[in-house]
Amino acid sequence: MSKIKKGDNVKMLSGKDRGKNGTVSLVLAQGADARVVIEGLNKVKKHQRARKQGQKGQIISVERPVNISSVQLICKSCGKPTRVGFKVDGDKKERICRKCSATI
Ligand SMILES: [Zn+2]
Repeated sequence: MSKIKKGDNVKMLSGKDRGKNGTVSLVLAQGADARVVIEGLNKVKKHQRARKQGQKGQIISVERPVNISSVQLICKSCGKPTRVGFKVDGDKKERICRKCSATI
């Protein structure tokens, strides 16, 4: 089970968007080198070439994935950025907030 899931609200801990919050739109890979894409954050400008004749090339902004260690989950319960803990309940594994112990 991953610490960060799609739809989570996270805080950026590094890069030019450090300190900003955003929603995870995509999770790439799992485990220690998992990377996430956050809506509207860590954007880079990319030159897009014309694909067809007569079409103009353009500059577009794309969100670059960031390493999971560069973000911290914001707890829905206490609203604070927190480390994620796990709680095993029978055969279910749940994520918990390390600050307020709520299930996230
Ligand atoms: Zn909490």
